[in-house]
Amino acid sequence: MLDTDFFRRWMTAAAASVDREAERLTALDSAIGDADHGSNMQRGFTAVRAALEKEAPDTPGAVLILAGRQLISTVGGASGPLYGTLLRRAGKALGEAAEVSEEQLAEALRAGVEGIKQLGGAAPGDKTMVDALVPAVEALGDGFAAAGAAAERGAEATTPLQARKGRASYLGERSIGHQDPGATSSALLIAALAEAAAETEDSGE
Ligand code: ADP
Ligand code: MG
Repeated sequence: MLDTDFFRRWMTAAAASVDREAERLTALDSAIGDADHGSNMQRGFTAVRAALEKEAPDTPGAVLILAGRQLISTVGGASGPLYGTLLRRAGKALGEAAEVSEEQLAEALRAGVEGIKQLGGAAPGDKTMVDALVPAVEALGDGFAAAGAAAERGAEATTPLQARKGRASYLGERSIGHQDPGATSSALLIAALAEAAAETEDSGE
């Protein structure tokens, strides 16, 4: 079972990963966007980390709802409300439970991805974060490592696509040949799940 501490570790691992990869995310966004995706994500996850310390949410659902709220209020770009919706929807789906199963988490994240699709109107193949998140939640039944690998493959598969949503779509055919920044950050967030799980094993729980 996954407890509140697992969800805190997930968000902390995501924040650390975003810090490490911020320059790469911004470089990708400078090719087909406005060169702010790394700084947007860093600002958002810095706020998430601070809020988790200050407010100490005490259920898995509360951790995700708080994190989602921070992303919506601090990120500023298109990705903020989209990631905020992912985490808030997932958090609401987890309800008040003190511990949740991996299957419940998978179902909650599927609901979150549906929220992103509704809010942003993107479908798979439109060269957005959806291209990493949809295969990731489909692979979650096979474990966190499989989900991380699926997200990574999904992000890489955005390179030959032409963007049909978001700022990159303004470039038309010129968006072809570059990996989507949001799909890339999504792969980081999903990979952080396996990191959070590995930390439990390390501590011998
Ligand atoms: P902005 O485009 O406002 O500068 P960011 O640079 O932070 O915001 O995020 C850009 C990323 O957001 C894109 O790479 C894409 O993955 C994602 N994105 C943009 N619009 C949409 C949308 N309508 N649906 C899903 N994802 C989107
Ligand atoms: Mg941008």
